[in-house]
Amino acid sequence: MIPVSRPYLPQREKLDAYLDGIYARNRLSNDGPLVQELTRRLSSFLGVEHLLLVANGTLALQVAYRALGVSTEAGKSEPNAITTPLTFVATASSLKWEGVDPVFGDVDAETWCLDPDSIAPRVTQDTRAVVPVHLFGNACDVEAIDTVARDYGLRVIYDGAHAFGVRYRGESLLSRGDASAVSFHATKAFHTVEGGAIVFRHKADLEQARSLINFGQTAPDRIEAVGLNAKMSEFHAAMGLCVLDELEHCLAPRREAWHAYEAELGGWARMQRRSSSVENNSYVYFPVAFADEAQMHAVKNALERAEIQARRYFYPALDRIPDLNPVRPPSARAGDLASRMLCLPMGQDRSETEYVLEILRGMSRSMRMQATGDD
Ligand SMILES: *Cc1c(COP(=O)(O)O)cnc(C)c1O
Repeated sequence: MIPVSRPYLPQREKLDAYLDGIYARNRLSNDGPLVQELTRRLSSFLGVEHLLLVANGTLALQVAYRALGVSTEAGKSEPNAITTPLTFVATASSLKWEGVDPVFGDVDAETWCLDPDSIAPRVTQDTRAVVPVHLFGNACDVEAIDTVARDYGLRVIYDGAHAFGVRYRGESLLSRGDASAVSFHATKAFHTVEGGAIVFRHKADLEQARSLINFGQTAPDRIEAVGLNAKMSEFHAAMGLCVLDELEHCLAPRREAWHAYEAELGGWARMQRRSSSVENNSYVYFPVAFADEAQMHAVKNALERAEIQARRYFYPALDRIPDLNPVRPPSARAGDLASRMLCLPMGQDRSETEYVLEILRGMSRSMRMQATGDD
């Protein structure tokens, strides 16, 4: 079976050397030297100033909401935040978990990211934030989102789980908004097995978050807030340091597969239109939208018969999930896209990509024949 994604494992000797250091120091967690080294190296790699490593991407979102005053406080009315329905469930469930009602906007039919025009009509007096997603590493319309947020006094927290390493107008895409949350889960290109980070615009917010992820402690005998435990361990940082060293090695085959898919599918399926201001891709996903749900299923089944896994990322659209109690009728464009999108396998070698392409080519031939009634 060719899996839809394959975690990258760095050279074993390199990891062993870091583990030897952990054993020698006997320091396993709590902002240890490897977490500090990874913080420095990632900040410089991304070109960002206020980066905080955390235990995973979902906690990165939750801590960002807390640090920026979006989460609910006892005795106050239920806050809400406007987000996109076309994303991984954690974007919205993390809001719900923090006592913030997700209010779903719709996506742009071409970029597949939150449509900035769908924000203002949904703002109420309880709206505190906008939580857009740079879906599949494409940039949201960050300028338009900034403008609406300023007009209505809203915080902007980007779910940047797909945006690691993406450059936007000469800067990291993660430097936009009040904060961006990133995931370093094993299925993302850069990973720490489990892990994540928050990139803040302001240093004061970073310092607030730093105490929140450590039980609200600012010193061993000082508790200044109700916190939680969201710290990254030294073992996870060691994996991150190794993967960062080999990032190019990890991305090269993905980049190759990405371009091969694009060339093959350009003629008969739809790709996401990428913002003209993004300079590169994250090469983590290859999403494609087919003509309709039936065609998507036909392609998915043909791939599965050939032992190739393709996944319906992201289905169903989150405004169809009762537990996230959507208050409005489901968003039309997000629902339509979710019904006919697939993500193709990434992270395999060239011969496996060739094999996937062969199956896709066969599908495209049979669909053309069906369309012309010529069998
Ligand atoms: C992976 C992902 C997350 C969650 O990150 P974890 O590190 O797995 O908690 C959140 N949002 C999006 C869009 C993701 O793809």
